[in-house]
Amino acid sequence: AAKAAGKNRFLRFHPDMMTALVQRTDMLTGLQLAVARREISVGFQPIVSPRMAQVVQFEALARWNRDGERVPPSVFIPMAERSGLIGEIGAEVMARGLVRLAPWLSQDLSRSLAVNVSGVQLQEPDFADGVISLAEASGVGLYQLVLEVTESVFFDADSSLIKQLASLREAGARVALDDFGTGYSSLGRLQDLPVDTVKIDKSFVSMVRTGRERLPILSSMINMAHSLGLTVTAEGVETAAQADYLMALECDSLQGYLFSLPVAGSRLELAVQQADEAIKALRGR
Ligand code: C2E
Ligand code: MG
Ligand code: MG
Ligand code: MG
Repeated sequence: AAKAAGKNRFLRFHPDMMTALVQRTDMLTGLQLAVARREISVGFQPIVSPRMAQVVQFEALARWNRDGERVPPSVFIPMAERSGLIGEIGAEVMARGLVRLAPWLSQDLSRSLAVNVSGVQLQEPDFADGVISLAEASGVGLYQLVLEVTESVFFDADSSLIKQLASLREAGARVALDDFGTGYSSLGRLQDLPVDTVKIDKSFVSMVRTGRERLPILSSMINMAHSLGLTVTAEGVETAAQADYLMALECDSLQGYLFSLPVAGSRLELAVQQADEAIKALRGR
């Protein structure tokens, strides 16, 4: 009986594997086409400063609408990283983001645009030059650009990668450590990393439920970052209790659905209004 079951399992497994393979191949072909046709668009999510009580930054997020169906970045970004498409996608998102936000950025030089950068892009020796010329072409100064990288890019960072990040920072760009807390390095390693900001991962923010609990991990992360002279952004802020808690811990910036979802470039003003109102209401309580 065991043998028969095993045989059955094998027979059922095989077509599934084929289907998965076909779907993956199809998805990759679709992504290649979308990149070639420049169909990767950008979603913009506001980031607010409680101290300024207003939107101070937008994060640009890649969007792929495939025949009316949204494919999430968690699916197509890893695929793009494996297939060599991430360089083109990253450049497209940065270029579109800079052009779209240039007017908003020029109104106040303390405003900035954050863009996600994959470790694969940083392997390209001309990455830094590419970023500098994109910024120049859009008329946006590098000091208004934030590059978000995850801890993993520093694991076996070669000297070329470190040099590129260093030259971008020298030119004025800032670097943010994305998804902070989810990587493998300890808090202690933070002082060795060439970053200006940490973005606390939403999994930590979601630990705040009532706002009355003690969460030593969250306060340690923020205090440690501050004591190293870094600014702190919290991502995934969904409730007023979470925002209040983070504000009490002196978190510098907040991002999340409580303020606004990521929006299309045509809805920037609406998103700013909505997020401004939300942070003003919180401060006024
Ligand atoms: P991330 O950089 O950490 O971006 C934040 C993610 O959290 C976004 O997901 C955003 O939509 C989502 N988010 C924002 N506020 C909330 C909230 O209040 N609650 C919840 N549950 N989620 C919230 P998204 O757009 O699906 O992107 C996922 C990840 O894909 C990004 O995480 C980033 O790692 C990657 N990604 C997106 N665009 C790009 C890109 O252009 N280049 C690269 N290399 N990676 C990208
Ligand atoms: Mg990010
Ligand atoms: Mg993030
Ligand atoms: Mg994240």
